[in-house]
Amino acid sequence: MTAEKEQRNAEQRTLLPGSTIGILGGGQLGRMMALAGSAIGYRFVALDPTPDGPCGQVSEQIVAAYDDREAARELAKRSDVITYEFENVDADVASMLMAESYVPQGSELLYTTQHRLREKRAIEAAGVQVAPYSEIRSAEELREAANRFGLPCVLKTATGGYDGKGQWVIRSFDEIGEAYETLSRSGAELVLEQFIKFDKELSVIAARSPQGEVRTFPAAENIHVDNILHLSIVPARIAEDIQRKAEELAKRIAEGLGAVGLIAVELFLTPEGELFVNELAPRPHNSGHYTMEACRTSQFEQHVRAVCNLPLGDTSLLTPVVMVNVLGQHVEPLLARMARHDEAAKKLNVAPKVHLYGKKDAVHKRKMGHVNVLAADVETALHWIEETKIWKV
Ligand code: AMP
Repeated sequence: MTAEKEQRNAEQRTLLPGSTIGILGGGQLGRMMALAGSAIGYRFVALDPTPDGPCGQVSEQIVAAYDDREAARELAKRSDVITYEFENVDADVASMLMAESYVPQGSELLYTTQHRLREKRAIEAAGVQVAPYSEIRSAEELREAANRFGLPCVLKTATGGYDGKGQWVIRSFDEIGEAYETLSRSGAELVLEQFIKFDKELSVIAARSPQGEVRTFPAAENIHVDNILHLSIVPARIAEDIQRKAEELAKRIAEGLGAVGLIAVELFLTPEGELFVNELAPRPHNSGHYTMEACRTSQFEQHVRAVCNLPLGDTSLLTPVVMVNVLGQHVEPLLARMARHDEAAKKLNVAPKVHLYGKKDAVHKRKMGHVNVLAADVETALHWIEETKIWKV
């Protein structure tokens, strides 16, 4: 990149309402970003290959593949500032956008978080601990590292994995050959992690603006089913000092990695009270959807404020909340029994706020929406979720 272009992207520009924000990606995260930003007066244009997708329904859209350079150039032309809603942005497109437009988030953090090894090294460099890990280049190295960490341990592809895909929990030394064969087939580099016997999985979302202001949202306690986020419980059922520690380390990561916009930090909490970072996402995160009604500022508004260099919003929690994801199989029962659920909600004095993303096909396990269940305490919200019987596994 030329010095002039670097300079342009490094400078702090403030984009006032009325400006157009271009989003690479047009899924639910883009949709909720556009909805929150439109309320303040920003305009949005998304680039996504699916016409009339979740974001395209509420913003302008350029219908093209993510790696279509011409379409990306068109996005640059129509936008005052560009952000993204997924991290697997094509490196070529990212550098072209950096050259032709204003991308305050830059491409370095994307480059770091696209690769588990790079990400772990960056987290460690920020002074935060990750689960012990080792780069794996052969079945022999895998055997040696598994011996060192002990079983079980988790083999992961360094790139391309999500929702538990590209992972193998090795429980016996007999599995080593097959695990290595299977995961290395894609050609991806591999990393072995010690298995953390965690008590809870937590996440903290931090926001940082180009001028260096940082704010964190309250930690969420996350419960996964089949590796897909099922519940986020806030306040997390953890001691106050752990809550503080989790927010502090998210802040340290946002500062250490020079993030702009949101960065979600996923954590394991051990029974001894130790925190290990599992992974990062430099974008709005599913575990932050609870902020939409439960915080003074939602993660989506905060992201818009951060990339536009506005003062960040107050992240205080207004009410206990449980976010429950609505997957393909949950949509039909949710809609069919809405009236009955409202009755139960009234009795328990909870407010279930339904969000649906406008996706057409309710495919099994596909994220279609979520419900933020606001209540006097998280137990009551969990009770309502149980009573609906929609999420019985
Ligand atoms: P990931 O794709 O890295 O977020 O992993 C998906 C899920 O696998 C996590 O949410 C954990 O429940 C589990 N997991 C991943 N890595 C580890 C680990 N090192 N120790 C224990 N559980 C893990």
